[in-house]
Amino acid sequence: MSQQKTLKSSVKTSGIGVHSGVTANLTIKPASVDSGIVFVRSDLKESNIIPAVYDKVIDARLCTIIQNDAGARVSTIEHLMSAFYGLGIDNAIVEIDQEEMPIMDGSSATFIALIEKAGIIAQSKGKKYLRITKAIEIEEGDKKIIIEPSDQFSINCAINFSHPVIGQQEVSFSADCDYRYDVSRARTFGFAHEIEQLKKMGLARGGSLDNAVGLDETSVLNPEGLRYEDEFVRHKLLDMLGDLKLAGMEILGKVSAFKPSHQLNNTLLRKIFESVGSFEIVEDYKLVAQA
Ligand SMILES: [Zn+2]
Repeated sequence: MSQQKTLKSSVKTSGIGVHSGVTANLTIKPASVDSGIVFVRSDLKESNIIPAVYDKVIDARLCTIIQNDAGARVSTIEHLMSAFYGLGIDNAIVEIDQEEMPIMDGSSATFIALIEKAGIIAQSKGKKYLRITKAIEIEEGDKKIIIEPSDQFSINCAINFSHPVIGQQEVSFSADCDYRYDVSRARTFGFAHEIEQLKKMGLARGGSLDNAVGLDETSVLNPEGLRYEDEFVRHKLLDMLGDLKLAGMEILGKVSAFKPSHQLNNTLLRKIFESVGSFEIVEDYKLVAQA
């Protein structure tokens, strides 16, 4: 059991959105206990608050997009959310003056460095946990995620792409792993032919080899090569940790994922919260709710 955490001071950065190509200014600020991660659209005068929780996700086909009831939204939140997971941050205010989050270098490493620069402090109350008590399984075509009861959080993530550089890759993550070292530097990736297609649709306007691993039919296009031999599956893990952070509390359960997507990660959270009898919420060692 550990204490809730927030940032010690505010930090600012800016960068372009991978889909919009528009520059966004970002400020990450400390927040009080039990307030969670909350996005604020500083360019909007009213109804500009969007809590980063699973039931605010309105679209997760290309990236994770959250929206409030008034229609204010922020897209591509998953890499910052993953950094919050990696550093154990429970409460923070994220002010942004555009609709899309900066992509930075395509990983969460820049956000990690930024938050570490601000400093991290433990708060006066213990973390809240979502403990899985009965296995839940979801499937969509050949994609699948299972979450089983466990007193620890762990993920096994596997992908399979019929591409000579990727193929079959598998990675495991648990409390013993070092998020910063093992996960945070893994960049998003895209195939040249798909990127052309997305650009025609007005998407991926900000996408380049500065913020993604690009692949043609046989090889990696980035002159610097890969950061991890299995960078692709490690990025899928990074995305998953960010998407599952939208549970709004730490998850205690053993996750096994095959070809996860943002959509499937969100479906998993929705399925957990609607599965009465499959989870309980634990706070300060006390059981506060049993589903
Ligand atoms: Zn990603």
